[in-house]
Amino acid sequence: MNVDVAIVGAGLVGASLACSLAGTGLSLAVVEGAAPPERAPGWDARIYALSPGNVAFLDSLGAWGAMDPARICPVRAMRIFGDDGRSQMEFSAYDAGVAELAWNVESGELQRALWSLLQSRSNLVYPARPVSLDVGADAATLRTDNGLSICARLLVGADGANSWVRREGGFDSQARPYGQKGVVANFACELPHRGVALQWFRADGVLAYLPLPGERISIVWSTDDAHATELMAMPPSEFCEQVTAAGAGTLGRLELLTPPAAFPLAHIAVSNVVKPRVALIGDAAHVVHPLAGQGVNLGFGDARALAGVLRDRAPHGDPGDFSLLRRYERARAEDVLAMRLVTDGLQRLFHARQPWVARLRNLGLNLTDAIPVIKTLLARRAMA
Ligand SMILES: Cc1cc2nc3c(=O)[nH]c(=O)nc-3n(C[C@H](O)[C@H](O)[C@H](O)COP(=O)(O)OP(=O)(O)OC[C@H]3O[C@@H](n4cnc5c(N)ncnc54)[C@H](O)[C@@H]3O)c2cc1C
Repeated sequence: MNVDVAIVGAGLVGASLACSLAGTGLSLAVVEGAAPPERAPGWDARIYALSPGNVAFLDSLGAWGAMDPARICPVRAMRIFGDDGRSQMEFSAYDAGVAELAWNVESGELQRALWSLLQSRSNLVYPARPVSLDVGADAATLRTDNGLSICARLLVGADGANSWVRREGGFDSQARPYGQKGVVANFACELPHRGVALQWFRADGVLAYLPLPGERISIVWSTDDAHATELMAMPPSEFCEQVTAAGAGTLGRLELLTPPAAFPLAHIAVSNVVKPRVALIGDAAHVVHPLAGQGVNLGFGDARALAGVLRDRAPHGDPGDFSLLRRYERARAEDVLAMRLVTDGLQRLFHARQPWVARLRNLGLNLTDAIPVIKTLLARRAMA
Protein backbone atom coordinates (compact mmCIF):
# COMPACT_ATOMS: atom_id res chain seq x y z
CA MET A 1 0.00 0.00 0.00
CA ASN A 2 1.43 3.43 -0.93
CA VAL A 3 0.18 6.40 1.07
CA ASP A 4 1.20 9.95 1.87
CA VAL A 5 0.91 9.52 5.66
CA ALA A 6 0.95 6.36 7.79
CA ILE A 7 0.03 6.69 11.47
CA VAL A 8 0.86 3.95 13.97
CA GLY A 9 -1.58 4.09 16.91
CA ALA A 10 -5.24 5.14 16.78
CA GLY A 11 -5.53 6.19 20.41
CA LEU A 12 -7.13 9.59 21.02
CA VAL A 13 -4.17 11.50 19.63
CA GLY A 14 -3.41 9.37 16.53
CA ALA A 15 -7.13 9.15 15.67
CA SER A 16 -7.55 12.93 16.01
CA LEU A 17 -4.62 13.53 13.64
CA ALA A 18 -6.05 11.09 11.10
CA CYS A 19 -9.48 12.79 11.29
CA SER A 20 -7.96 16.24 10.84
CA LEU A 21 -5.96 15.12 7.78
CA ALA A 22 -9.01 13.59 6.12
CA GLY A 23 -10.18 15.95 3.37
CA THR A 24 -6.72 17.50 2.85
CA GLY A 25 -6.07 15.33 -0.22
CA LEU A 26 -3.40 13.32 1.64
CA SER A 27 -3.90 9.55 1.49
CA LEU A 28 -3.78 7.90 4.91
CA ALA A 29 -3.19 4.53 6.53
CA VAL A 30 -3.67 4.02 10.26
CA VAL A 31 -2.26 0.90 11.93
CA GLU A 32 -3.75 0.08 15.34
CA GLY A 33 -2.87 -2.85 17.55
CA ALA A 34 -6.22 -3.08 19.36
CA ALA A 35 -9.80 -3.86 18.34
CA PRO A 36 -12.39 -1.02 18.20
CA PRO A 37 -13.38 0.22 21.67
CA GLU A 38 -16.67 -1.25 22.92
CA ARG A 39 -19.01 0.55 25.32
CA ALA A 40 -18.95 -1.26 28.67
CA PRO A 41 -21.91 -0.90 31.04
CA GLY A 42 -21.58 1.98 33.49
CA TRP A 43 -18.92 4.69 33.39
CA ASP A 44 -15.39 4.51 32.02
CA ALA A 45 -12.83 4.95 34.84
CA ARG A 46 -10.49 6.88 32.48
CA ILE A 47 -11.77 10.46 32.56
CA TYR A 48 -10.00 13.35 30.86
CA ALA A 49 -10.42 17.05 31.59
CA LEU A 50 -10.21 18.63 28.14
CA SER A 51 -9.34 22.28 27.64
CA PRO A 52 -11.87 24.45 25.74
CA GLY A 53 -9.23 24.88 22.99
CA ASN A 54 -9.11 21.11 22.43
CA VAL A 55 -12.89 20.81 22.65
CA ALA A 56 -13.09 23.32 19.78
CA PHE A 57 -10.57 21.19 17.85
CA LEU A 58 -12.61 18.00 18.43
CA ASP A 59 -15.77 19.87 17.47
CA SER A 60 -14.17 20.94 14.18
CA LEU A 61 -13.51 17.24 13.44
CA GLY A 62 -17.12 16.27 14.18
CA ALA A 63 -16.11 14.11 17.17
CA TRP A 64 -17.42 16.36 19.94
CA GLY A 65 -20.91 16.55 18.49
CA ALA A 66 -20.96 12.76 18.03
CA MET A 67 -20.72 12.16 21.79
CA ASP A 68 -23.69 11.82 24.11
CA PRO A 69 -23.96 15.24 25.88
CA ALA A 70 -25.45 13.48 28.92
CA ARG A 71 -22.03 11.89 29.54
CA ILE A 72 -20.01 15.14 29.45
CA CYS A 73 -19.53 17.41 32.45
CA PRO A 74 -18.41 21.06 32.37
CA VAL A 75 -15.90 22.14 35.02
CA ARG A 76 -16.88 25.55 36.40
CA ALA A 77 -14.18 25.92 39.06
CA MET A 78 -11.15 24.21 40.46
CA ARG A 79 -10.01 24.24 44.09
CA ILE A 80 -6.49 23.12 45.03
CA PHE A 81 -5.46 22.40 48.62
CA GLY A 82 -1.92 22.36 50.05
CA ASP A 83 -0.70 19.78 52.53
CA ASP A 84 -0.79 21.98 55.65
CA GLY A 85 -4.61 21.84 56.00
CA ARG A 86 -4.96 25.63 55.41
CA SER A 87 -3.44 26.70 52.09
CA GLN A 88 -5.60 26.74 49.00
CA MET A 89 -6.08 28.27 45.60
CA GLU A 90 -9.21 28.59 43.50
CA PHE A 91 -9.71 29.15 39.79
CA SER A 92 -13.17 29.85 38.51
CA ALA A 93 -14.61 30.15 35.03
CA TYR A 94 -16.44 33.28 36.22
CA ASP A 95 -13.16 35.00 37.25
CA ALA A 96 -11.48 33.93 34.00
CA GLY A 97 -14.43 35.39 32.03
CA VAL A 98 -15.38 32.09 30.35
CA ALA A 99 -18.33 29.71 30.63
CA GLU A 100 -16.26 26.71 31.72
CA LEU A 101 -12.63 25.91 32.57
CA ALA A 102 -12.67 22.42 31.06
CA TRP A 103 -14.94 19.53 30.08
CA ASN A 104 -14.68 16.09 31.67
CA VAL A 105 -15.21 13.22 29.26
CA GLU A 106 -14.82 9.46 29.28
CA SER A 107 -11.83 8.22 27.31
CA GLY A 108 -13.91 5.39 25.74
CA GLU A 109 -16.74 7.70 24.59
CA LEU A 110 -14.33 10.03 22.83
CA GLN A 111 -12.37 7.12 21.37
CA ARG A 112 -15.56 5.64 19.89
CA ALA A 113 -16.59 9.00 18.41
CA LEU A 114 -13.17 9.41 16.75
CA TRP A 115 -13.11 5.81 15.48
CA SER A 116 -16.52 6.08 13.86
CA LEU A 117 -15.22 9.06 11.87
CA LEU A 118 -11.91 7.37 11.17
CA GLN A 119 -13.38 4.20 9.68
CA SER A 120 -14.95 6.18 6.84
CA ARG A 121 -12.02 8.58 6.31
CA SER A 122 -8.83 6.47 6.18
CA ASN A 123 -7.41 2.99 5.57
CA LEU A 124 -7.75 1.75 9.13
CA VAL A 125 -5.74 -1.45 9.60
CA TYR A 126 -6.56 -3.31 12.83
CA PRO A 127 -5.73 -5.28 14.81
CA ALA A 128 -2.20 -5.10 13.40
CA ARG A 129 1.24 -4.14 14.64
CA PRO A 130 4.28 -3.15 12.66
CA VAL A 131 7.14 -5.65 12.80
CA SER A 132 9.79 -3.86 10.72
CA LEU A 133 10.63 -0.32 9.68
CA ASP A 134 12.88 0.80 6.87
CA VAL A 135 13.39 4.57 6.49
CA GLY A 136 14.79 5.56 3.10
CA ALA A 137 15.37 8.91 1.40
CA ASP A 138 11.92 9.02 -0.21
CA ALA A 139 9.71 6.93 2.06
CA ALA A 140 9.35 4.97 5.27
CA THR A 141 8.23 1.37 4.79
CA LEU A 142 6.41 -0.59 7.48
CA ARG A 143 5.65 -4.28 7.47
CA THR A 144 2.86 -5.43 9.73
CA ASP A 145 2.25 -8.73 11.52
CA ASN A 146 -0.73 -9.42 9.21
CA GLY A 147 1.56 -9.39 6.18
CA LEU A 148 0.89 -5.86 4.89
CA SER A 149 3.60 -3.57 3.50
CA ILE A 150 2.86 0.16 3.87
CA CYS A 151 5.08 2.65 2.10
CA ALA A 152 4.52 6.24 3.36
CA ARG A 153 6.14 9.57 2.62
CA LEU A 154 5.58 10.43 6.29
CA LEU A 155 5.35 7.99 9.20
CA VAL A 156 3.78 9.29 12.44
CA GLY A 157 4.31 7.48 15.74
CA ALA A 158 1.17 7.95 17.87
CA ASP A 159 1.65 4.64 19.64
CA GLY A 160 1.78 5.84 23.23
CA ALA A 161 4.29 5.85 26.05
CA ASN A 162 6.05 2.61 25.01
CA SER A 163 6.20 3.70 21.38
CA TRP A 164 7.47 1.10 18.90
CA VAL A 165 8.06 3.84 16.29
CA ARG A 166 10.18 5.83 18.78
CA ARG A 167 12.34 2.78 19.49
CA GLU A 168 12.65 1.44 15.92
CA GLY A 169 13.10 4.95 14.52
CA GLY A 170 16.17 5.43 16.76
CA PHE A 171 14.81 8.45 18.68
CA ASP A 172 16.84 9.47 21.73
CA SER A 173 14.58 9.36 24.81
CA GLN A 174 14.96 9.48 28.58
CA ALA A 175 12.43 7.63 30.75
CA ARG A 176 12.27 8.12 34.53
CA PRO A 177 9.65 6.16 36.50
CA TYR A 178 8.11 8.19 39.35
CA GLY A 179 7.77 5.08 41.54
CA GLN A 180 4.06 5.97 41.66
CA LYS A 181 0.81 4.75 40.19
CA GLY A 182 -2.28 6.70 39.23
CA VAL A 183 -5.23 4.95 40.90
CA VAL A 184 -8.50 5.77 39.10
CA ALA A 185 -12.10 4.94 40.03
CA ASN A 186 -15.60 6.45 39.82
CA PHE A 187 -17.94 7.17 42.73
CA ALA A 188 -21.45 8.35 43.46
CA CYS A 189 -21.25 11.24 45.92
CA GLU A 190 -23.72 12.19 48.62
CA LEU A 191 -23.36 15.98 48.20
CA PRO A 192 -23.53 17.92 44.90
CA HIS A 193 -20.14 18.72 43.34
CA ARG A 194 -21.56 21.77 41.47
CA GLY A 195 -19.06 21.27 38.64
CA VAL A 196 -16.07 21.99 40.90
CA ALA A 197 -12.89 19.94 40.45
CA LEU A 198 -10.97 19.41 43.69
CA GLN A 199 -7.33 18.53 44.18
CA TRP A 200 -5.34 17.82 47.32
CA PHE A 201 -1.55 17.78 47.51
CA ARG A 202 -1.03 15.29 50.32
CA ALA A 203 1.88 13.61 52.06
CA ASP A 204 0.90 10.37 50.27
CA GLY A 205 0.51 11.90 46.80
CA VAL A 206 -1.95 13.98 44.80
CA LEU A 207 -5.67 13.24 44.88
CA ALA A 208 -8.06 14.76 42.33
CA TYR A 209 -11.89 14.62 42.29
CA LEU A 210 -13.18 15.26 38.76
CA PRO A 211 -16.93 16.04 38.46
CA LEU A 212 -19.03 13.78 36.23
CA PRO A 213 -22.68 14.29 35.18
CA GLY A 214 -25.15 13.82 38.04
CA GLU A 215 -23.81 13.31 41.52
CA ARG A 216 -20.79 11.35 40.38
CA ILE A 217 -17.06 11.92 40.40
CA SER A 218 -13.98 10.26 39.02
CA ILE A 219 -10.77 10.24 41.03
CA VAL A 220 -7.08 10.08 40.17
CA TRP A 221 -4.91 9.36 43.19
CA SER A 222 -1.23 9.55 42.20
CA THR A 223 0.59 7.80 44.99
CA ASP A 224 3.68 5.74 45.75
CA ASP A 225 3.67 2.18 44.39
CA ALA A 226 3.31 0.55 47.83
CA HIS A 227 0.34 2.75 48.79
CA ALA A 228 -1.29 2.17 45.40
CA THR A 229 -0.94 -1.60 45.91
CA GLU A 230 -2.60 -1.24 49.35
CA LEU A 231 -5.47 0.83 47.89
CA MET A 232 -6.03 -1.67 45.08
CA ALA A 233 -6.16 -4.59 47.52
CA MET A 234 -8.74 -2.99 49.86
CA PRO A 235 -12.35 -4.15 50.02
CA PRO A 236 -14.63 -1.57 48.33
CA SER A 237 -16.03 -0.22 51.62
CA GLU A 238 -12.54 0.51 52.99
CA PHE A 239 -11.41 2.05 49.69
CA CYS A 240 -14.46 4.36 49.77
CA GLU A 241 -13.63 5.38 53.35
CA GLN A 242 -10.01 6.13 52.42
CA VAL A 243 -10.99 8.27 49.41
CA THR A 244 -13.68 10.07 51.44
CA ALA A 245 -11.26 10.81 54.30
CA ALA A 246 -8.43 11.89 51.95
CA GLY A 247 -10.89 14.38 50.41
CA ALA A 248 -11.84 15.66 53.88
CA GLY A 249 -15.42 14.41 53.45
CA THR A 250 -16.08 17.38 51.13
CA LEU A 251 -18.70 15.54 49.05
CA GLY A 252 -20.11 13.46 51.89
CA ARG A 253 -20.17 9.69 51.70
CA LEU A 254 -18.76 8.14 48.50
CA GLU A 255 -20.01 4.93 46.94
CA LEU A 256 -17.83 3.03 44.47
CA LEU A 257 -19.28 2.80 40.93
CA THR A 258 -16.38 1.23 39.03
CA PRO A 259 -13.61 -0.97 40.39
CA PRO A 260 -10.30 0.90 40.76
CA ALA A 261 -7.53 0.56 38.16
CA ALA A 262 -3.87 1.59 38.55
CA PHE A 263 -1.51 3.01 35.92
CA PRO A 264 2.28 3.25 36.43
CA LEU A 265 3.50 6.86 36.20
CA ALA A 266 6.71 7.93 34.45
CA HIS A 267 8.31 10.99 32.94
CA ILE A 268 9.47 10.49 29.34
CA ALA A 269 11.33 13.16 27.40
CA VAL A 270 12.41 12.81 23.77
CA SER A 271 15.30 15.02 22.59
CA ASN A 272 13.97 15.50 19.05
CA VAL A 273 10.47 14.44 18.06
CA VAL A 274 11.14 14.49 14.31
CA LYS A 275 13.62 12.79 11.98
CA PRO A 276 13.61 12.68 8.20
CA ARG A 277 10.26 11.07 7.22
CA VAL A 278 9.21 10.33 10.83
CA ALA A 279 7.40 12.39 13.51
CA LEU A 280 6.17 11.53 17.01
CA ILE A 281 3.02 12.87 18.63
CA GLY A 282 1.18 12.38 21.94
CA ASP A 283 2.61 10.11 24.61
CA ALA A 284 5.08 8.72 22.06
CA ALA A 285 6.69 12.20 22.10
CA HIS A 286 6.32 13.11 25.81
CA VAL A 287 4.84 11.64 28.96
CA VAL A 288 4.08 13.99 31.86
CA HIS A 289 2.79 13.42 35.40
CA PRO A 290 -1.05 13.43 35.40
CA LEU A 291 -1.31 15.90 38.33
CA ALA A 292 -2.22 18.73 35.95
CA GLY A 293 -4.45 16.50 33.77
CA GLN A 294 -2.67 17.70 30.64
CA GLY A 295 -1.24 14.60 28.88
CA VAL A 296 -3.89 14.10 26.25
CA ASN A 297 -4.36 17.86 25.97
CA LEU A 298 -0.69 18.17 25.00
CA GLY A 299 -1.16 15.30 22.52
CA PHE A 300 -4.13 17.04 20.86
CA GLY A 301 -1.92 20.14 20.63
CA ASP A 302 0.64 18.03 18.71
CA ALA A 303 -2.05 16.69 16.37
CA ARG A 304 -3.36 20.21 15.72
CA ALA A 305 0.14 21.56 15.03
CA LEU A 306 1.23 18.70 12.76
CA ALA A 307 -2.05 18.79 10.81
CA GLY A 308 -1.58 22.57 10.49
CA VAL A 309 1.90 22.39 8.94
CA LEU A 310 0.85 19.56 6.61
CA ARG A 311 -2.22 21.50 5.50
CA ASP A 312 -0.21 24.69 4.94
CA ARG A 313 2.59 23.07 2.91
CA ALA A 314 3.10 24.04 -0.72
CA PRO A 315 0.61 22.45 -3.16
CA HIS A 316 1.80 18.87 -3.84
CA GLY A 317 4.63 19.43 -1.31
CA ASP A 318 6.22 16.36 0.27
CA PRO A 319 4.56 15.70 3.68
CA GLY A 320 7.75 14.00 4.93
CA ASP A 321 9.97 16.96 4.08
CA PHE A 322 12.30 17.44 7.06
CA SER A 323 12.06 21.24 7.13
CA LEU A 324 8.27 20.91 7.37
CA LEU A 325 8.59 18.44 10.25
CA ARG A 326 11.05 20.76 12.01
CA ARG A 327 8.39 23.46 11.82
CA TYR A 328 6.01 21.15 13.71
CA GLU A 329 8.71 20.39 16.29
CA ARG A 330 9.46 24.07 16.87
CA ALA A 331 5.75 24.92 17.16
CA ARG A 332 5.34 22.41 20.02
CA ALA A 333 8.66 22.82 21.87
CA GLU A 334 7.63 25.65 24.22
CA ASP A 335 4.29 24.17 25.35
CA VAL A 336 5.73 20.71 25.90
CA LEU A 337 8.75 22.00 27.84
CA ALA A 338 6.56 24.27 30.00
CA MET A 339 4.20 21.41 30.87
CA ARG A 340 7.12 19.06 31.61
CA LEU A 341 8.71 21.59 33.94
CA VAL A 342 5.46 22.50 35.71
CA THR A 343 4.23 18.93 36.29
CA ASP A 344 7.66 17.52 37.18
CA GLY A 345 8.47 20.55 39.38
CA LEU A 346 5.16 20.35 41.29
CA GLN A 347 5.56 16.60 41.75
CA ARG A 348 9.05 17.10 43.25
CA LEU A 349 7.99 20.12 45.33
CA PHE A 350 5.08 18.28 46.95
CA HIS A 351 7.06 15.06 47.35
CA ALA A 352 9.88 16.75 49.30
CA ARG A 353 9.78 16.10 53.06
CA GLN A 354 11.90 19.06 54.36
CA PRO A 355 9.79 21.45 56.53
CA TRP A 356 11.11 24.59 54.75
CA VAL A 357 10.03 23.18 51.37
CA ALA A 358 6.59 22.43 52.86
CA ARG A 359 6.27 26.06 54.06
CA LEU A 360 7.44 27.37 50.70
CA ARG A 361 4.98 25.29 48.61
CA ASN A 362 1.98 26.20 50.73
CA LEU A 363 3.01 29.87 50.73
CA GLY A 364 3.25 29.61 46.92
CA LEU A 365 -0.36 28.37 46.72
CA ASN A 366 -1.66 31.17 48.95
CA LEU A 367 0.34 33.85 47.10
CA THR A 368 -0.87 32.67 43.70
CA ASP A 369 -4.41 32.65 45.05
CA ALA A 370 -4.01 36.23 46.25
CA ILE A 371 -2.84 37.60 42.86
CA PRO A 372 -5.79 37.48 40.42
CA VAL A 373 -3.65 38.51 37.41
CA ILE A 374 -1.37 35.48 37.78
CA LYS A 375 -4.32 33.17 38.33
CA THR A 376 -6.07 34.45 35.23
CA LEU A 377 -2.86 34.02 33.18
CA LEU A 378 -2.43 30.43 34.43
CA ALA A 379 -6.08 29.61 33.74
CA ARG A 380 -5.97 31.13 30.23
CA ARG A 381 -2.82 29.16 29.36
CA ALA A 382 -4.32 25.86 30.57
CA MET A 383 -7.53 26.53 28.60
CA ALA A 384 -5.83 27.35 25.28
C1 LIG B 1 -3.83 7.93 35.77
C2 LIG B 1 -3.77 8.86 34.59
C3 LIG B 1 -4.65 9.93 34.49
C4 LIG B 1 -4.60 10.80 33.42
N1 LIG B 1 -5.47 11.86 33.36
C5 LIG B 1 -5.39 12.74 32.33
C6 LIG B 1 -6.28 13.88 32.24
O1 LIG B 1 -7.16 14.13 33.10
N2 LIG B 1 -6.15 14.75 31.21
C7 LIG B 1 -5.21 14.53 30.24
O2 LIG B 1 -5.10 15.38 29.32
N3 LIG B 1 -4.37 13.47 30.27
C8 LIG B 1 -4.43 12.57 31.28
N4 LIG B 1 -3.59 11.49 31.32
C9 LIG B 1 -2.65 11.27 30.19
C10 LIG B 1 -3.32 10.54 29.02
O3 LIG B 1 -3.83 9.30 29.45
C11 LIG B 1 -2.32 10.31 27.89
O4 LIG B 1 -1.56 11.47 27.67
C12 LIG B 1 -3.06 9.93 26.60
O5 LIG B 1 -3.79 8.73 26.76
C13 LIG B 1 -2.06 9.75 25.45
O6 LIG B 1 -2.78 9.44 24.28
P1 LIG B 1 -2.03 8.81 23.03
O7 LIG B 1 -3.07 8.64 21.98
O8 LIG B 1 -0.80 9.59 22.72
O9 LIG B 1 -1.49 7.39 23.55
P2 LIG B 1 -2.33 6.11 23.98
O10 LIG B 1 -3.60 6.48 24.62
O11 LIG B 1 -1.39 5.25 24.75
O12 LIG B 1 -2.70 5.40 22.60
C14 LIG B 1 -1.73 4.70 21.85
C15 LIG B 1 -2.46 3.83 20.84
O13 LIG B 1 -1.47 3.15 20.06
C16 LIG B 1 -1.77 1.75 20.01
N5 LIG B 1 -0.49 1.05 19.91
C17 LIG B 1 0.50 1.00 20.84
N6 LIG B 1 1.54 0.31 20.36
C18 LIG B 1 1.20 -0.06 19.10
C19 LIG B 1 1.88 -0.79 18.09
N7 LIG B 1 3.12 -1.28 18.27
N8 LIG B 1 1.25 -0.99 16.91
C20 LIG B 1 -0.02 -0.51 16.70
N9 LIG B 1 -0.71 0.20 17.63
C21 LIG B 1 -0.09 0.40 18.81
C22 LIG B 1 -2.53 1.46 21.31
O14 LIG B 1 -3.36 0.32 21.16
C23 LIG B 1 -3.33 2.76 21.48
O15 LIG B 1 -4.57 2.69 20.80
C24 LIG B 1 -3.62 10.60 32.38
C25 LIG B 1 -2.74 9.52 32.47
C26 LIG B 1 -2.80 8.66 33.56
C27 LIG B 1 -1.82 7.51 33.64
